[in-house]
Amino acid sequence: MPSETIETDSHTLVTIACLSDNYAFLLRDKVTGDVALIDVPEAAPIASELATRGWTLSQIWLTHHHPDHIQGVDELCVQYPAPLYGAAADAHRLPALDVALNEGDTFMLGETPVHVIDVSGHTIGHIALYAPTAKAAFTADSLMALGCGRLFEGTPAQMHASLSKMAAWPDDTFICSGHEYTASNAKFALTVDPDNAALQHRARDIDTARAGGKFTVPSLLSLERATNPFLRSDDPALRAAINMTDATDAEVFTEVRARKDRF
Ligand code: ZN
Ligand code: FE
Repeated sequence: MPSETIETDSHTLVTIACLSDNYAFLLRDKVTGDVALIDVPEAAPIASELATRGWTLSQIWLTHHHPDHIQGVDELCVQYPAPLYGAAADAHRLPALDVALNEGDTFMLGETPVHVIDVSGHTIGHIALYAPTAKAAFTADSLMALGCGRLFEGTPAQMHASLSKMAAWPDDTFICSGHEYTASNAKFALTVDPDNAALQHRARDIDTARAGGKFTVPSLLSLERATNPFLRSDDPALRAAINMTDATDAEVFTEVRARKDRF
């Protein structure tokens, strides 16, 4: 299974393809050598990445309870045991947690502070983990590349509020989302934001990347703000394109999410 790596002065961020279209991530603090794994769709590709690098795990962070994000935990932990972090609100449906997290908590990976944000919508209890010094946010199935997760448990208003929190992070934040859905997300985005030149350009870049076997995840928040229709409820051109010029931002988001469900 392939992986891709982003190096900064302080951190290494590894994106690992799992299952048919899932991603897991490794974040390494270069000062202390501590490594976190974010989500465990399956054990084998993660174990092989760790073996290749000679890394062990300091922590495992779980974003939400869906099987395609947690089902590799038991098998991986036989070889790579590490304390499990996840939402206290989801403790009843996650593998047994060592650290139960709540909105507003901050914990450390080595010298890297990690902030816990409740981003309910896709599920109730979905969390995002935001590491500002690593310029990385692990958003799984909440904010996604050119999209957002389907609303299985939460309301449109909850997802809109969750996305608004994530949209406030700095422009140069890497959005580490849970799936390679970006090409189909682009096709939909162009239906509600057809005249957006940045979106048109990104759609071409996505086709090029996928044709070359490259990942489209992670993506920069600046690019999401410019092109992701679920972050653009306040954009006049998008509003005009769907005849909702006078609606509230939450109403526009609700309509765009409903159209995506039917797309
Ligand atoms: Zn999910
Ligand atoms: Fe998922």
